Amino acid sequence: MAKFERIILVAFDQLNLDRGAMRTANPATDLVVLIESQRMLTGRNWHAERLFFMVSSARHFAQDARERGFTVDYRQAATTPDGVRAVWADHGQLPTIAAQPASFEQARQFEALGVGTVETDFFLTPRSLFASWADSQKSYVMENFYRKQRVRLNLLVDGDKPVEGRWNFDEDNRLPPPKNYTWPPRLTHQRDQIDHDVATQIGHKATDLWATTRAGALKALDHFIEHNLAGFGPLEDASTNDDWSLHHSLLSPYLNVGLLHASEVFDTAVAAYKRGEAPIQSVEAFVRQIIGWREYINGMYWYLGEGYKDGNGLAATRKLLPLFTDSNKTKMKCVSGVVGDIEKRAWAHHIPRLMILSNLALITGTNPQEFLDWMRENFIDASQWVMVPNVIGMGVHADGGRLMTKPYAAGGAYINRMTQYCKSCSYDPKLRVGETACPFTTLYWDFLDRHREAFAKNHRMGQQLMGLNRLSDLPELRLRAASVLAGLEAGTI
Ligand SMILES: Cc1cc2nc3c(=O)[nH]c(=O)nc-3n(C[C@H](O)[C@H](O)[C@H](O)COP(=O)(O)OP(=O)(O)OC[C@H]3O[C@@H](n4cnc5c(N)ncnc54)[C@H](O)[C@@H]3O)c2cc1C
Ligand code: SF4
Repeated sequence: MAKFERIILVAFDQLNLDRGAMRTANPATDLVVLIESQRMLTGRNWHAERLFFMVSSARHFAQDARERGFTVDYRQAATTPDGVRAVWADHGQLPTIAAQPASFEQARQFEALGVGTVETDFFLTPRSLFASWADSQKSYVMENFYRKQRVRLNLLVDGDKPVEGRWNFDEDNRLPPPKNYTWPPRLTHQRDQIDHDVATQIGHKATDLWATTRAGALKALDHFIEHNLAGFGPLEDASTNDDWSLHHSLLSPYLNVGLLHASEVFDTAVAAYKRGEAPIQSVEAFVRQIIGWREYINGMYWYLGEGYKDGNGLAATRKLLPLFTDSNKTKMKCVSGVVGDIEKRAWAHHIPRLMILSNLALITGTNPQEFLDWMRENFIDASQWVMVPNVIGMGVHADGGRLMTKPYAAGGAYINRMTQYCKSCSYDPKLRVGETACPFTTLYWDFLDRHREAFAKNHRMGQQLMGLNRLSDLPELRLRAASVLAGLEAGTI
């Protein structure tokens, strides 16, 4: 007779002892199973730091579960289905449950295997609730969803009114990077035997930047609240080569694999506000990311359906540029800086993801799916649910404007205002033609020119198109754009 009555299958993004299928688990009757599949390790060209983080976090979770009294079968197998079938062969084909998977692919895989699911509580908003909000909207404006979330979750509100009189402090939160500023210290994490074993297995020298345990993730949360929350808001949109994380929280990897839950993150931030340790414009900005953007993106992933990831509304066909896979393949300081950061630590904050990487993919007409694959493989916090809407919708406008009504295209002048890269660059952000013209500036106008018909009916693009129509050097600009694109493909620009 089987010793256990049930199998709890824990996916590598559901690593929480009190959530998902673990919330009803009983050490006396349930066997906890994690599958480390070879396909997951080698199926894509993953950044080694990301792989290290995922595998080591899962092995630490298995250790924590054992310490809580569970029997854990941590299985290495060729594929997840192979692993599950091997567990069944050893323990009998017991009823097997998992939390609702976070992607369409995994949902299909579990269904095909006959793994039952319980509703996910790794997010704050049930999928059905999000769908009913989205169904009632003409366009899916995040701010409208966010205000509803504030009231529903009773956060920073008095009844149905925002505390301190405003829903949104965005206007106060657009400062460029300050000069002579001392950025806060960064937390580092000591590596243990599990970390060392995983690093050796995958042949990687891990950084000390990312926690791989629940205890380490909680330390990272406390560190953020103590050192960064107060400064988070005003500098949220800045980017600088002085410091790679500014006041950002660095919490996304933990939130996305289950080591932290959104509710404990916002509770801790709001408690700091109530103690007077952080101003409303920072706490509101941070809460907006957690209960607004993160939930909205997840809701939209499920609402828009699986085919959304294949969108290519601007018919962009260029192959991924070599500078994405090798930061030495460009002289553009902003791009080599950001890609170099990703090579080192598998992370860059929101602004480089949007203003440098996605903007470049957008204005060079890079194929959205090639760019999506690269982003997905190289970021420590990447998951299908979060990369797809952020890249396809927000980043490269490949969805015909379903998520964002206007493409996020910017030239060098904007990058120069928001970052310090241009000072040491061989290109000039003010120039659009000539050998030293900034490639962003040239390609920004060229992008508008190439898509002027498509954008003609978009009233939010009116001002930009008017600017385009005033250019006196369009023929020269088109020639420069062609040579910039050829240079980017050759890795010489
Ligand atoms: C093209 C592109 C790709 C992105 N890919 C990812 C990704 O793979 N994984 C990921 O977690 N985030 C992604 N983001 C969103 C955002 O850039 C990261 O969440 C953030 O940079 C993570 O760093 P942080 O934890 O310090 O965030 P903070 O700036 O401290 O923000 C706090 C938290 O808010 C949440 N958040 C903020 N914006 C978003 C958003 N647009 N979508 C979802 N969550 C958000 C994250 O959980 C984040 O940890 C992407 C954004 C863009 C423009
Ligand atoms: S000049 Fe252009 S390419 Fe150089 S750093 Fe500035 S924006 Fe980037």
